[in-house]
Amino acid sequence: MTAKNVHKRFGANEVLKGVDLTVEPGQVICILGPSGSGKTTFLRCLNFLESADEGELTVDGQTVEFKSVKKKEILSVRRKTAMVFQNYALFANKTAKENIMLPLMLAQKLSKVDAEKRAVEVLDKVSLLNRADFYPSQLSGGQQQRIGIARALAINPDVILFDEPTSALDPELVGQVLALMKDIAKSGVTMVVVTHEMQFAYEVSDKVVFMEGGVVVEQGTPDALFNHPKESRTKAFLSRYT
Ligand code: ATP
Repeated sequence: MTAKNVHKRFGANEVLKGVDLTVEPGQVICILGPSGSGKTTFLRCLNFLESADEGELTVDGQTVEFKSVKKKEILSVRRKTAMVFQNYALFANKTAKENIMLPLMLAQKLSKVDAEKRAVEVLDKVSLLNRADFYPSQLSGGQQQRIGIARALAINPDVILFDEPTSALDPELVGQVLALMKDIAKSGVTMVVVTHEMQFAYEVSDKVVFMEGGVVVEQGTPDALFNHPKESRTKAFLSRYT
């Protein structure tokens, strides 16, 4: 997936000022940056949950211009990407299994039988097969997020976009979600992760991107970015975490 020159403004507030990002198949990219730097907005633009004002996006060989993108193109790109949300975004009145089955039937057009089969596979992958018929309110935050991740995995997307997936969790539940994300990364899934989890970014990323003020300030391998940052803004940000 490649995003080029992504611009987004909310009224007079220019939140993204020409952001570029390339993620190769199988790569894990973590996006770091202070609060308000535009990380979440950027991710939402990649999935058309926000409409970017300018720039282009290529997913699996299909390129679209944000300014003139058609509804049909949005649906087609969305079918190739999945998003994991900070607040899980599960349907409260559907069971864990039904939450996974819904997008498979509605967007991917699988039959109910095939959707259920796939849901069972991914529930097993996230070690929650024994919670298949539980409603979100009957699950811990960590378990709900693992269902959110299972739902994303189920559609077998080109890339999974994670928007601060652990930041709503109680500290004791963060570890189980990060461990699952590490497993998924190892299995070769392409991932773009907005996170404040520095240790995770350091251990798991192929590339770390530091954003501030709506631009990419610096990017590189975890070793380059964490141990040898070049830009003073990167250094200042990292020093707040040590
Ligand atoms: P955090 O780490 O706190 O989540 P972030 O880097 O993800 O921050 P964004 O959530 O992308 O930052 O927000 C960037 C800026 O865009 C902020 O100034 C925010 O107030 C503004 N913003 C985001 N969404 C909207 C919206 N729907 N309407 C108006 N302004 C918005």
